[in-house]
Amino acid sequence: MERSVIRLSHCQKEIFCFSLPDECPSCGEELKGIRLQEAPVSLPSPLTNGHKSSCCLLVAPAHDNLHRDSDGASDLHTGISNTKGVVFNYTRGGVRRDQTGWERCVSVPLVRPDMFHLLAQWDQYLDRFSNGPMWDPAWHRFDEDDHNCFSFCLQFVNSVLTAEGRSSLSRDDFTRSFILPRMRRVSKYTTLYQHLQRHQYYLVDRQEDRQEDAAVSS
Ligand SMILES: [Zn+2]
Repeated sequence: MERSVIRLSHCQKEIFCFSLPDECPSCGEELKGIRLQEAPVSLPSPLTNGHKSSCCLLVAPAHDNLHRDSDGASDLHTGISNTKGVVFNYTRGGVRRDQTGWERCVSVPLVRPDMFHLLAQWDQYLDRFSNGPMWDPAWHRFDEDDHNCFSFCLQFVNSVLTAEGRSSLSRDDFTRSFILPRMRRVSKYTTLYQHLQRHQYYLVDRQEDRQEDAAVSS
């Protein structure tokens, strides 16, 4: 997904495309030189470079997973970035500290920028947590369902919440509020992108689209 998707409005339609057309694909009116009601905007991709995001939960979407309406995060690989963009992730062989490989993923910020105390401790927390016996293959075996990359992230997030005197999150809460809404956005964006690769344009009625946007952001 290298190109950026542009959205413009004309004749009560939202038009999605990779480059501005000469004529409106809906009504055929020439667009060159006319003033559009709103300037075309380019839609940000929901995928970001995990190595440039600090203190985030990262979810790397498996490609064949995007088309399924996934009900959980079990098929995805998840990790946590430190303040330098190193991604800590738990695998069969223990915790990996990746400097590459997470260039296209969904990132969920875990720390507000004004939480200086937490930011200052983050790398140390993450390092210490990763060195714990829970994640040492000699002590604890990796399990696809119960002791996996997601368990690592969730337990880390919960240990930070506990240290900050806040209550911890259940696996379901975490998945429902942090992961699924973003994965749905990735899935929608990917579907739109693939449609544009085949058909050049995607048109929707303006109002309908507004409602859909609201549903996504809520
Ligand atoms: Zn038009």
